[in-house]
Amino acid sequence: MLVVEQDDVASGTTSASTRLIHGGLRYLEHGELGLVRESLREREALLTIAPHLVEPLRLYLPIYRGARRPRWQIRLGMAIYDLLSWGKSLPRHRMLSRDALLERLPGLAAEGLVGGACYFDAQVAFPERLVVENLLDAAAHGAAVMTHTKATRIVVEAGRVTGVEWREARGATGRVSARCVINAAGPWLDRVAASVTGAPPPVALVDGTKGSHLVVAPFPGAPTSAAVYAEAASDGRPFFVVPWNGLYLIGTTDLRYAGDPGEAAIDDAELAYLVSETERLFPCCGGIAERVLYTQAGVRALPRTPNAAPGAITRRHVIQAHREARGVYSIVGGKLTTYRSLAAQVLARLARDGFAPASTIAVGRERGDERLPGAIAGRERDALQAELIGAFGAPCAHRLVWTYGRIAERLLSDAAARPELALPAAPGSALLRVELVHALESEWAVSLIDLLQRRVMLGLGADFGLDAARAAARALVELGVWDAARAADELAAYRRHAEAHRAAAVLSAATRADAI
Ligand SMILES: Cc1cc2nc3c(=O)[nH]c(=O)nc-3n(C[C@H](O)[C@H](O)[C@H](O)COP(=O)(O)OP(=O)(O)OC[C@H]3O[C@@H](n4cnc5c(N)ncnc54)[C@H](O)[C@@H]3O)c2cc1C
Repeated sequence: MLVVEQDDVASGTTSASTRLIHGGLRYLEHGELGLVRESLREREALLTIAPHLVEPLRLYLPIYRGARRPRWQIRLGMAIYDLLSWGKSLPRHRMLSRDALLERLPGLAAEGLVGGACYFDAQVAFPERLVVENLLDAAAHGAAVMTHTKATRIVVEAGRVTGVEWREARGATGRVSARCVINAAGPWLDRVAASVTGAPPPVALVDGTKGSHLVVAPFPGAPTSAAVYAEAASDGRPFFVVPWNGLYLIGTTDLRYAGDPGEAAIDDAELAYLVSETERLFPCCGGIAERVLYTQAGVRALPRTPNAAPGAITRRHVIQAHREARGVYSIVGGKLTTYRSLAAQVLARLARDGFAPASTIAVGRERGDERLPGAIAGRERDALQAELIGAFGAPCAHRLVWTYGRIAERLLSDAAARPELALPAAPGSALLRVELVHALESEWAVSLIDLLQRRVMLGLGADFGLDAARAAARALVELGVWDAARAADELAAYRRHAEAHRAAAVLSAATRADAI
């Protein structure tokens, strides 16, 4: 198997998601009981196979007088949600009185509040690492991975796929033979499908909707260890305020979007909407706009549903066989939460169509329950953390264990073999040199953006990782991995990336010179 990714792994929609592993309470409104059940089962599985990345998350759902979803409806929805998650390890929901909710969330707007609910879902703080670990697992089972490599053409001869042509970012081109091609290009899916040669252009399969988030510094009255799932007062859409990575993730929006997915960015109206809804929910917050550190926007690749309101389009995935090009399949829609069940369904489809042995279905199911390479929990995790404290110090150890899990053992052995890698990237930096070398050599990272944003995960901090980026560039020059010109180019690209995500006011105040 070969995986080609035009940019970096998880650089698309995945890194712009709300980072929840959830059943999708909202989908109950649209009668999607099957999707909710599947998602809840997957939530449970991910808590088991990736306990270092996926953690239980408590959520509060406040109910206000005159809301679109009254208390009885919320109570019914919660009961069905619990029912559909039979066999779960997370606690059941509880309905709360107004006073009980305010006791738990003193910063919440009290006017018109009639009560609320408390329930559990899960959070994957870094879905980027979830993707990396799935690829590490795939590679351990024989897959090859090429990042910064675009599939430029799906080659079809006499109605059958025969291969894929690709082009690397640095210009090299090539072709790989294939009996079967899975187009999993998310919101780019129709563009990739259009590159099928020898077949008529396909009908568009995807409806794109843009969803944006604000990343906000902690604010007065913010919930500390739980998320809030509220109904927006202006339009009744549900939105989240989620504690994340020491900051808050606030979103999302849902707007039809037909542009280049790589260019999606929050617009002024979305920013104003998310700010005003959060300020309304937490009146003592002291202003949200000033606390916005950066923003994220991504495009949902939903199954094409003309004339439907974006919020009403199903979040279910569809596996579309291209009849005019036997062996080509496009994956339309879906959620992060259900990636495993989607993969198993793709395998089953390939086996049914004769592209994989029937035994693949059983293997897919068994492997689906295998833990990811970094999976570690309980005493084993404590022991690893103690070892990491001994090698790298306490603050660093905590971050390493929750970013890499068991993969941190590899960092320990690499640093022991090459003591110069045990050092921080720069004096006082939280980033270790060994992380950089590991990501470049073993996790398909190429650029400074890949390293900071999708491997070591320090790029998602309050300063968008600008300090760590400078330290990383300098360390890679000192280690002889990059020359000074390459490091300067990488840093300049990182700054441009930060500028595209950071609120202009914050950027001008906080950025410093590019010198390394
Ligand atoms: C705002 C928002 C919030 C969300 N929140 C949640 C949530 O909380 N929980 C949840 O479960 N789901 C959530 N989702 C849905 C979830 O993010 C997506 O279902 C999931 O990330 C899709 O992953 P993907 O790999 O299919 O797409 P992507 O992550 O977009 O990956 C597709 C990849 O294909 C690559 N590509 C494109 N063209 C080519 C080419 N020609 N050659 C090679 N590579 C190519 C792209 O570079 C990209 O990296 C959310 C989505 C959005 C937009």
